[in-house]
Amino acid sequence: MASAPYDVIVIGGGPAGLTAAMYTARANLRTLVITGRMVGGQIALTFQVDNYPGFPETITGPELSGRMRRQAEKFKAEFLEDEATAVDFSSTPLNVIVGETVHEAWSVIVATGSSNRKLGLESEERLMGRGVFVCATCDALLYEGKRVVVVGGGDSAVQEALDLAKFAREVVIVHRRERLTACTCLKQRAEENDRIRFLWNTVVQDILGESRVEGVRLKSRETGEEWTLECDGVLLAIGWDPNTSLFDGQLDMGESGYIVSPSGVDTSVKGVFVAGDLNDTKYRQLVTACGSGCMAALEAERYIDELKGG
Ligand code: NAP
Repeated sequence: MASAPYDVIVIGGGPAGLTAAMYTARANLRTLVITGRMVGGQIALTFQVDNYPGFPETITGPELSGRMRRQAEKFKAEFLEDEATAVDFSSTPLNVIVGETVHEAWSVIVATGSSNRKLGLESEERLMGRGVFVCATCDALLYEGKRVVVVGGGDSAVQEALDLAKFAREVVIVHRRERLTACTCLKQRAEENDRIRFLWNTVVQDILGESRVEGVRLKSRETGEEWTLECDGVLLAIGWDPNTSLFDGQLDMGESGYIVSPSGVDTSVKGVFVAGDLNDTKYRQLVTACGSGCMAALEAERYIDELKGG
């Protein structure tokens, strides 16, 4: 006999999904978390988390996400470390498919997060992992004593540059505007760091090198001048795109691919709620992701109560 549907399936094992699971499991709702490839999401790639309340001595991302998982498991949330391959939200119970297996649930919380944006250059794809990279925490050691270009001007670019500057000889932030959009505290730290310099109003035209990064071709947006800068690595920090392809044709999405949610939590399908970066174009903080996970869980709980005539 097929097992009864879960009360809630959470798709995504980042902070939003883990918080949602902790809440629904603690509310005695039978909860399955389908984590994706990596429990913790982006936070698992972060070495030092010093803006999550309650940890004045700081904590590493993997340690924090491990704790979040254990807290959800304490309330009996089940975990499946795999990727959802399809969803069918056209009938109730809702279906979430992982490979050959269909999992049913009365409510689904989608929290699949976001992925690094790319420049769209052929060379960037070819040299990915060969000098082109997206995570200083993961790869900074490889660039000890070397020169690295960081592309972008937001919080990520500056944070990654600061992490890299602990190892690299020189970090060059290449930004297409004339000033950073990163927060003041990060900006100040970068400006005071001797190993970091800035190239303003500049874009990366191409990444050079056959089998490894050897440099970048740059262009000034002011003068049109082009030149080559030798470097050993290029870190892309130009923002994130929501991971919503799984929900194509199932949930309403805006032009930029974010899930449409006027209330910030509900979606175009009853019983399906959204949390984390999937509909957050503005804040995208660890703590806001956790907050939205909590909100989605409370709405799922209310919805299931109504559905079951509670
Ligand atoms: P972001 O704030 O969207 O910044 C992206 C940067 O990349 C901008 O400077 C943007 O320039 C530039 N950019 C975008 N597309 C580009 C392209 N094709 N070519 C060149 N440059 C391009 O993204 P983010 O820095 O990843 O931050 C995302 C969110 O995470 C933010 O809300 C941020 O506060 C948060 N975050 C927080 C922390 C922290 O608290 N420590 C750390 C990391 C991220 P334009 O301005 O010209 O578009």
